[in-house]
Amino acid sequence: MILRPTEGVRYSLVLPVFNEEAVLPLLLHRIEKLLSSLDAPAEAIFVDDGSRDTSSIVLEAKAKQDPRFKFIRLSRNFGHQIAITAGMDAASGDAIVVMDADLQDPPEVVLEMIGRWKEGYEIVQARRLTRDGESAFKKKTASIFYRLLGKLSSVDIPRDVGDFRLIDRKVLEAFREMPERDRFVRGMFAWLGFKQCEVTFHRPARAAGETKYPFFKMLRLAVNGVVSFSDAPLKLAIWAGATVSALAVVYGVYSFFAGLFSDSVVRGWTSTVVIVSFLCGLNMLLTGMVGLYVGRIYAEVKRRPLYVVAKKIGFAASAKATDHEQTRVA
Ligand code: UDP
Ligand code: MG
Repeated sequence: MILRPTEGVRYSLVLPVFNEEAVLPLLLHRIEKLLSSLDAPAEAIFVDDGSRDTSSIVLEAKAKQDPRFKFIRLSRNFGHQIAITAGMDAASGDAIVVMDADLQDPPEVVLEMIGRWKEGYEIVQARRLTRDGESAFKKKTASIFYRLLGKLSSVDIPRDVGDFRLIDRKVLEAFREMPERDRFVRGMFAWLGFKQCEVTFHRPARAAGETKYPFFKMLRLAVNGVVSFSDAPLKLAIWAGATVSALAVVYGVYSFFAGLFSDSVVRGWTSTVVIVSFLCGLNMLLTGMVGLYVGRIYAEVKRRPLYVVAKKIGFAASAKATDHEQTRVA
């Protein structure tokens, strides 16, 4: 059952690129094939997230030679989540697909996603059935993270779904109204709601090059995810603080009576040190937890633009700047 009219429809692809020169020739070839197999005109927006290799030269040349390919270069490395935001801000299609540049998100799946969009779905998530070429450690930590986030978060964030998804124009407009700095894009789409569905795929190893998500970047994304979508750490702080204080009172009462009625008690240096250091440690932990949130408030109130564009190629001159963007076209 086809609900959407296909007349006058346009598609946008958004691909964040960070030092991907090894994979670009193959990627451009596969994207070209995808564009010509689509049933409507499409643009492919490549966002160069401050690459230090030849990625930007290759992409810029491609954009100059083929009008379907568009190019945005950010002024430095702003990180994957911001790069895809920049690409989505610039997208003009009726359906927008975000996908990785390393061919871990197979272009063929896009056809299936578009099929679901035509059925009337407004967000089509791509769920990974398997993940090849990723370390056992990455798979395990990812699975723990998704499970933890599912428990803590107040919105239902789908498991095993990354940032490979199709969104309808309507959803994009709503997404643009979300100005938060620390972005956990997959959570933001879960929060938005709309008519969502899933397609599944087997995730291959990256076609070439190395992961641009080393452990610490992944950890930062995970902390962003938890802190953005859950206040459980704050509540944990309150409960942990209350429990430890209660235990300290019990132990205090015990030592008082033990001191009063027993003469075998040596006024303990050990217990004092243990208690003091334990409480100090706990205090620091809890202060740190509160600090996580305070830090975010600080980042939000600065109201800096999310990213700075250094160069844009292939876009109509009238494309106006969005709330996220600070246009300083070189
Ligand atoms: N990426 C980016 N900026 C970054 C890190 C990554 O634009 O700071 C891009 C990268 O080029 C790729 C996508 O984000 O297209 C996903 O990164 P990667 O494949 O390295 O992550 P993994 O699949 O290993 O989790
Ligand atoms: Mg990858």
